[in-house]
Amino acid sequence: MKKDYLVKALACNGEIRAYAVRTTNTVSEAQQRHDTWVNASAALGRSITAGVMMGVMLKGEQKLTIKIEGDGPLGPILVDSNAKGEVRGYVTNPHVQLPQNTVGKIDVAGAVGRNGFLSVVKDVGMKDHFTGQVPIVSGELGEDFTYYFVASEQIPSAVGVGVLVNPDHTILAAGGFIIQVMPGASDETITMIEENMKKIPAVSTMIEKGLTPEEILYQLFGQDKVQILDTLDVSFCCECSRERIETVLIGLGKEELGLMIEEDEKADVECHFCNETYHFTKEELEQLLDK
Ligand code: ZN
Repeated sequence: MKKDYLVKALACNGEIRAYAVRTTNTVSEAQQRHDTWVNASAALGRSITAGVMMGVMLKGEQKLTIKIEGDGPLGPILVDSNAKGEVRGYVTNPHVQLPQNTVGKIDVAGAVGRNGFLSVVKDVGMKDHFTGQVPIVSGELGEDFTYYFVASEQIPSAVGVGVLVNPDHTILAAGGFIIQVMPGASDETITMIEENMKKIPAVSTMIEKGLTPEEILYQLFGQDKVQILDTLDVSFCCECSRERIETVLIGLGKEELGLMIEEDEKADVECHFCNETYHFTKEELEQLLDK
């Protein structure tokens, strides 16, 4: 299987900043880890795809968390990403499968909900956080991320994210792009992009047809107008570990840990983000109690 990667680029003489990514494997891993059904796969996959591109807009050790809280059956969706192309995420109710929407597509808005909030918390280091929150405007997520950039970051943008799901729930294709208009961009450039966006196929279709992230940008701007700046591997990656879970258990305090040993004689701790379960025997818990 072709590896997932992302490109950062400039287009139209620097008037446009652009990102494009293939996330088929990354979304597949999320689908398998969380056993998501069709609508959950599409919603989580779109969020992961937008999230990984937003992550690489950060620098160094910075990271961000996206929370989408709609009033649909999926419940909250959470995605974490960083500047290294690592992303993880989950949806509260993974077993959501609804009939197709009126245009014969996966009903993402129906699953996410058309009311609620999309928030982004950026951890930029030194205990500094930036939070931006916007109302959900469509629930299809691409438009919601577009609205986030415009309303919260004041950057005119276009976000395209898409996931194709096979009948057996596996992921056929996933990917996306983010286009950002730089100050001083000409009306001509903006009109050209708007026209191109109407003509190009859905981003998930382009990925399915085998287009690379570079080629998606060529479709949007014309090959001669794209200057690729950087290429980065992307993957589903969770920072949880047995050591971290041990720290959390120790952090519960002697009393609570003691109660756990007495009543349950074991502990199974699940990481929400990657669905990994960490099992601790009574003896292991007693060793933690001694620390
Ligand atoms: Zn984890």
